[in-house]
Amino acid sequence: MKLKDKVCIVTGAARGIGEGIARRFVAEGARVAIADLDLGAASETAKRLTATGPGSAFGVAMNVTDEDAVNAGVAAVVAKWGGVDVLVSNAGIQIVDKIEDYAFKDWKKLLAIHLDGAFLTTKACIPHMYRQKSGSVILMGSVHSKEASPLKSAYVTAKHGLLGLARVISKEGAEHGVRANVICPGFVKTPLVEKQIPEQAKELGISEDEVVDRIMLGETVDKEFTTIEDVAEVALLFAAFPTNALTGQSLVVSHGWHMD
Ligand code: NAD
Repeated sequence: MKLKDKVCIVTGAARGIGEGIARRFVAEGARVAIADLDLGAASETAKRLTATGPGSAFGVAMNVTDEDAVNAGVAAVVAKWGGVDVLVSNAGIQIVDKIEDYAFKDWKKLLAIHLDGAFLTTKACIPHMYRQKSGSVILMGSVHSKEASPLKSAYVTAKHGLLGLARVISKEGAEHGVRANVICPGFVKTPLVEKQIPEQAKELGISEDEVVDRIMLGETVDKEFTTIEDVAEVALLFAAFPTNALTGQSLVVSHGWHMD
């Protein structure tokens, strides 16, 4: 088992990609905190994952934009399990609109969840990692950390920003044995993406099939969606890598949509 007894915090893990990463970690023996907005949903997911074993999970209420809530959530994990080995900052939303119509409050909300969330959870976890002289911080980027698409000004800005944050964490964390890396998935069919298909069709004046074929999968090598399991496998690589050699990096998992 690659993560036996490792303490992992995955934000936005009640469903979607975060849940898939938590599931993969539990399968490798980890103890995983399912941190999400709604404690009920987080606890339900934790119960399901614990039943699959051999690791275990528990739910933690955490709005990643709220510093007190982040600090309290991380403190609860440390009180229960004694430290933090892996942070996956995954919570995220999508809001699509043309720049001229993009509400400033939506811009601020999206940047807060992706960027403030990554910063606050890292800030709360890193002292525990420094104390034990090891840790892995994984930020959930996107192909949109490397590419731009119309209608996604805030998302593309936030996802590019995470690359910078991961590089700084790598430089500051190195002497403490802490690594930081970014996962950059292509389109994965989760509620976040299902919601965009009709929205983009309406904004761009095309059919939903065209949104999938042309906008979402048009640049892939095989017209396939990336899966939650694909992304979870990359998360496991970053979480379990044994040395500081793999730090400050971003890995694109997108069926060749973006090639570095
Ligand atoms: P999702 O909508 O299925 O799940 C997101 C989860 O985050 C939900 O459980 C939600 O409750 C939680 N969340 C939202 N706001 C939160 C907050 N303020 N505090 C705590 N939790 C919060 O989305 P997903 O598709 O699984 O996306 C997860 C991450 O992967 C996001 O960062 C997203 O940008 C990124 N991503 C997704 C895709 C994709 O195609 N689905 C592609 C690339 C990157």
